[in-house]
Amino acid sequence: MTHSLENIIKNLDKDINSLSVSELRKKYLSKNGILPSLFTDIKNIPSSERKEYGQEVNSIKQRVENALSNNTQRDTDTSVVEKIDPTAPFDLNTSQQKKPRILDMKGSSHVLMQEIGSILEIFQKMGFDILESRQIDDDFHMFESLNFPKGHPARDMYDTFWTDDGLVLPAHTSTMQNRALRKFGPPPIRVVLPGRCFRHEATDASHEHTFYQIEGIYVDRDISVANMLATIKEYLQEYLGKELDIKMQPAFFPFTEPDIEFIISCPFCDKKGCSTCGYIGWIELMGCGMIHPNVLTSGGIDPKKYTGFAWGVGIDRLTAIRRGIGDIRKLREGDIKFLNQF
Ligand SMILES: [Zn+2]
Repeated sequence: MTHSLENIIKNLDKDINSLSVSELRKKYLSKNGILPSLFTDIKNIPSSERKEYGQEVNSIKQRVENALSNNTQRDTDTSVVEKIDPTAPFDLNTSQQKKPRILDMKGSSHVLMQEIGSILEIFQKMGFDILESRQIDDDFHMFESLNFPKGHPARDMYDTFWTDDGLVLPAHTSTMQNRALRKFGPPPIRVVLPGRCFRHEATDASHEHTFYQIEGIYVDRDISVANMLATIKEYLQEYLGKELDIKMQPAFFPFTEPDIEFIISCPFCDKKGCSTCGYIGWIELMGCGMIHPNVLTSGGIDPKKYTGFAWGVGIDRLTAIRRGIGDIRKLREGDIKFLNQF
């Protein structure tokens, strides 16, 4: 095979995919095009190689002709039928159709990963260790070590997915509490546990079957609710870039006592009411509480000597608040137009 024939074959696929019908026809079939010149060259090819050469040239010609007939069909389809698909990541009526925009984009991290990064950075500055949560766990870590004995009705609040052999896809990052207490103990223990969680529930604008959470635990001597409120408030003010007022209301979690719903003043309207806070001026953001003595004992910590607090917050929810996203399901749709905003 001659050098130039080799090059032509190498570029053929690219030309077929990128050139328009008329460009392809001109480049290959016109009087001064590639194929006529290849046929003219046959006489210069040594007779021993001529047969193979002829076969190669014919095969190029065949492929160009097939491409021309397929592309003509495609171009005609697009120009005759005015397609409008507002969800398409490119305009169906332009030549971009041949080059989806993703090919021109540099890779970038997903907005959820960007948010996890900023959250972890704040906690690192506050002196916390980081331990990533797991995406599959066992009954002991997900429930029993957290003071949910078998048959406890509160298990129903954490309906998730199970494997056939009895393993569980964690419904919260608290599934890591026992491991964190053992790994970072004896106190002081300060650790945040980011990870992916799962819930078997109907989805809507603020609920997803898969989401990210970040758990935090702080255990030492003489730790009180006041330390907990100050720590969480400090973190949220740094994250949302805004002074906040906070409120508490009672909640119920088996693994803390007392159990608290942590409520912040809306960072967007200063309690006047807006669409982010549902026009009430406050946002119920996360659950928290003082770690239950049974949970400390199960993690090898003496509850007579030490106390601590824990909290868990949905990263999707924080992202939605901070980035002004109305529907958290958009975070997982893979819509390039949406993701490009971040
Ligand atoms: Zn508001």
